[in-house]
Amino acid sequence: MIIGSHVSMSTPEFVLGSVKEALSYGANALMLYTGAPQNTRRKPVEELRIEEAQALMEEEGIPMENLIIHAPYVINPANSVKPEVMELARTFLIEESHRTAKTGATYLVLHPGSYTTTDPDMGLKTAAQQLNEIDPELAEGVTICLETMAGKGSEIGTSFEQLEELLSSLQNADRYGICLDTCHINDAGYDVSDFDTVLDAFDRIIGLGLLHVIHLNDSKNPIGAHKDRHENIGFGTIGFDALHAVAANPRTAHIAKILETPWIKGNAPYGIEIDMLKRGVFEPERIRALGHE
Ligand code: FE
Ligand code: FE
Ligand code: ZN
Repeated sequence: MIIGSHVSMSTPEFVLGSVKEALSYGANALMLYTGAPQNTRRKPVEELRIEEAQALMEEEGIPMENLIIHAPYVINPANSVKPEVMELARTFLIEESHRTAKTGATYLVLHPGSYTTTDPDMGLKTAAQQLNEIDPELAEGVTICLETMAGKGSEIGTSFEQLEELLSSLQNADRYGICLDTCHINDAGYDVSDFDTVLDAFDRIIGLGLLHVIHLNDSKNPIGAHKDRHENIGFGTIGFDALHAVAANPRTAHIAKILETPWIKGNAPYGIEIDMLKRGVFEPERIRALGHE
């Protein structure tokens, strides 16, 4: 099982510290933001202790493709209303693709964005235009993984059909793939407890070969709620058995599963969640011991 969580990336050890944090959870995969997820201030990549991080990953037998980078969520490629937001999406994504390449990671996860005051078609069209415009300047060897979204507010990418529409409008389709988030697809209306049926639909509409990352999260809300509030594994509406079945599904065994479940009273739940998912045993008292209700 290729499994890990999002981890912090901060002074003084930066990416080396991220890898150490992942190892402390018993993970063999990790996802990080190259700075704060909610802003676009970034340190020069040369200061992020990447060689040491890569050496530690190699020592631990973790392949580089198990390191995932997530673009900050303030980047909105679907916005056609504010020129400054459009400009920031273009310039930041070009730089972020080069930072991703320098970390040695292959996959850069990106939220396709929100159409704000226009409509979903305009959002999809805008995102495709924005990505096509920067295409010649993106780093080689980096695959941008568009994430399935919950449908909160005016998000696009809330169905496999929408994502396929976006993918098919991209000039250089080879650069793109998908990150499937279980909380988001639940909230968008898909039944995660029948994951093989979800994968069948994904395969028919997009193609399973384009699925590169899975975000494994429980949801605080029922199917179709369009909320996007993550819950700890087994404590939400999707439930442990369904999420374990996703983690253990042989059709996606080669894909990294990344937990983005909430911290509990200052404690990371990931070591316990990873252990439970690897063994297939739900032990809610261990999560409650951290302070979860
Ligand atoms: Fe995300
Ligand atoms: Fe996610
Ligand atoms: Zn989310």
